[in-house]
Amino acid sequence: TDLQRLCVHESIGNKIPKEGFVEAFDELSIPVELVGDDESYDESDAVASFKPRPEFLDAGWVHVIRAGYDAFDTDEYETTGTPLTNSTGIHGTTVGEIAVGYMLSLARMLHVYRDHQNDSDWYEPEYQRPFTVEDERLCVIGLGTLGQGIATRADALGMDVVGVRRSQESVPGVSEVYHPDDLHDAIADARFVAVAVPHTPSTEGMISTDELATMRDDAYLVNVARGPIVDQDALVDALDAGTIAGAGLDVFETEPLPEESPLWDFEEVIISPHRGSATNRYHLDIAELVAENVRRYQDGESLKNRVA
Ligand code: NAD
Repeated sequence: TDLQRLCVHESIGNKIPKEGFVEAFDELSIPVELVGDDESYDESDAVASFKPRPEFLDAGWVHVIRAGYDAFDTDEYETTGTPLTNSTGIHGTTVGEIAVGYMLSLARMLHVYRDHQNDSDWYEPEYQRPFTVEDERLCVIGLGTLGQGIATRADALGMDVVGVRRSQESVPGVSEVYHPDDLHDAIADARFVAVAVPHTPSTEGMISTDELATMRDDAYLVNVARGPIVDQDALVDALDAGTIAGAGLDVFETEPLPEESPLWDFEEVIISPHRGSATNRYHLDIAELVAENVRRYQDGESLKNRVA
């Protein structure tokens, strides 16, 4: 069956402007409709959504506008044979810049100066505290789109970049690749550890008490992937005890991060509200990917980024 329409589920409003996204498809070969939870689907419908809904399984194809599709049950899609695609491949620059931004700030202390600026306070730090990221070691865990986006930018700043990935293939800008079984060796000497893996059963809690203890006590953790990959209680304990120096965090076990979370109060923790991918043209990047897959679907080609 050919596709007859593209249904844009209103949950995309969580990340991108609904009208702007629909308008981005003005040259698409099929009509685009904004739909809510009262819609039903058949084989001739494509769906683009942020959140999963059971009725999407009746559609001809479903696209998750996010890179992380952990909220979708891929087994259900395998069972019904409904193709599921995601938006990996477009976040290397956006999330890469955020991760490098945290590292530069944590090293050069921009976050601390800004805090003091709020009180019109001319704050002069302890001589020993600031450092340059140049020549410091960064370990990037997961070398897909995000990981490579971080690694190439860090390499350009003169950092010593190592990484963790399951295949031993070399990656541009990464001087040494460790196997996930050797995670502790990979992170032990790093000044920065950046998490860039998907949230799966094997990555959940990957950074916990042991890993935080293995890290240097002057090391910083960067998490731009998914909250549950880092054991958040263990992280708070490590920050409290000073077994690591600080963190840059875009993602959390519970989002929005609850007001009572102790993470808000650490001077050396930078928190961003899961907007690592946010730019004023994010909706266009996603639309381009979806339009490419509409074309492929209609031409009987295999879909890009198929995850089930
Ligand atoms: P990707 O598929 O391009 O890369 C993920 C990489 O991790 C792959 O190379 C994969 O082989 C590797 N990997 C998986 N399990 C691993 C393990 N146990 N050990 C080592 N490597 C492992 O995906 P991506 O676009 O780079 O995104 C990665 C994740 O980051 C997403 O799943 C999503 O959860 C998150 N993300 C967050 C934001 C944000 O706004 N903060 C934006 C995009 C993606």
